[in-house]
Amino acid sequence: MKIVVTGGAGYIGSHTCVELLENGWEVVVVDNLANSSFEALKRVEEITGKKIEFYQTDIRDKSKLSEIFSAYTSNSETSENHQKCSIDAVIHFAGLKAVGESVALPLEYYSNNITGTLTLLEVMKQYGVKNLVFSSSATVYGDPHTLPIKENFPLSVTNPYGRTKLMIEEILKDLHVSDPSWNIALLRYFNPVGADSSGRIGEDPFGIPNNLIPYIAQVAVGRLSFLNIFGDDYNTPDGTGVRDFIHVSDLAAGHIKALPKLFTNPGVVVYNLGTGKGHSVMELVRSFEKASDRKIPFKIAQRRAGDIAACYADPSKAERELDWKAVRTIDDMCRDTWNWQKNNPNGFRKD
Ligand code: NAD
Ligand code: UDP
Repeated sequence: MKIVVTGGAGYIGSHTCVELLENGWEVVVVDNLANSSFEALKRVEEITGKKIEFYQTDIRDKSKLSEIFSAYTSNSETSENHQKCSIDAVIHFAGLKAVGESVALPLEYYSNNITGTLTLLEVMKQYGVKNLVFSSSATVYGDPHTLPIKENFPLSVTNPYGRTKLMIEEILKDLHVSDPSWNIALLRYFNPVGADSSGRIGEDPFGIPNNLIPYIAQVAVGRLSFLNIFGDDYNTPDGTGVRDFIHVSDLAAGHIKALPKLFTNPGVVVYNLGTGKGHSVMELVRSFEKASDRKIPFKIAQRRAGDIAACYADPSKAERELDWKAVRTIDDMCRDTWNWQKNNPNGFRKD
């Protein structure tokens, strides 16, 4: 009942740790804190009343990663083939995730995301841990011809970040071909937003946020003066971009449902984690204004390079095969984001 969570101190990782602990799993987090704070894990422990084992380690550091896996491996048998590692699965969130930054720093993205994953896989193989949940992204669908997006749609990517996700998916499929005892769930997330209902953990981007909801939240709290809406001339009902926003706690619950699926030896399985509903940027602004009871000043700006008009999932495969469904609405997402942001205007930093 032990899960290693790489990147567990991050936004989605910390919310997944809450779900894991509340569902009786023991949690071992490996995170280099490159984009997160130790405080997030302390708060996960406070929310759940349970302990996390934490290693501040870069997943590219093979010897440290081996030491961690070895600490959970019984030494009673001398033959390496009979070693028993008590880690049941790895949920692999660790990675860099900013599209624009990946264009400027491709080598950092390939090193962190690809080399990091390869190192993790080598160590997992060494210790006989062959169950993996991987954080993929709807970005692997590129600009789809029709909506909603199904898992069997053609895949294409346009930037180094997306390419790392698609390459890792391919690497994982090759790994399974070479050794069918691997079980791998590729979870393609749509747009995760929101925060734990406690208001104690949430998304805490370093610097100026790239994504819509953290940006709106910082406008609402007065850290930024207005929102730029990137384009109001798309072929969508109100002209602004449409996305499948999914509450991070619903997304986290999807990971909990993926684990028992892995233990049925399914090989490689792929699931969209989205709500199946598209909402526009303008709808999100209005919903956030309602949640915060504040005006969100905005300006209409140029379209952002690389953005598509609309994107939303067909999540029915996950509902059918994992018995998982997103239940929270955009009003829930905005309420919980606001609750987190207003109580923690500087995120996890104290000043
Ligand atoms: P995040 O940056 O909050 O979390 C990632 C965590 O990984 C951070 O805590 C960071 O410190 C850690 N990390 C990064 N590189 C590491 C390394 N080499 N070794 C150890 N730890 C490392 O991001 P998130 O939003 O929680 O995303 C989690 C995963 O989900 C990422 O792989 C991301 O690409 C993927 N994803 C995110 C979104 C999104 O919109 N947030 C959408 C689709 C997919
Ligand atoms: N967006 C915006 N202003 C911002 C950030 C985002 O208008 O400051 C729009 C963006 O053009 C897209 C939607 O919000 O239509 C979601 O963007 P985000 O970066 O959150 O996620 P993406 O779908 O690009 O992964």
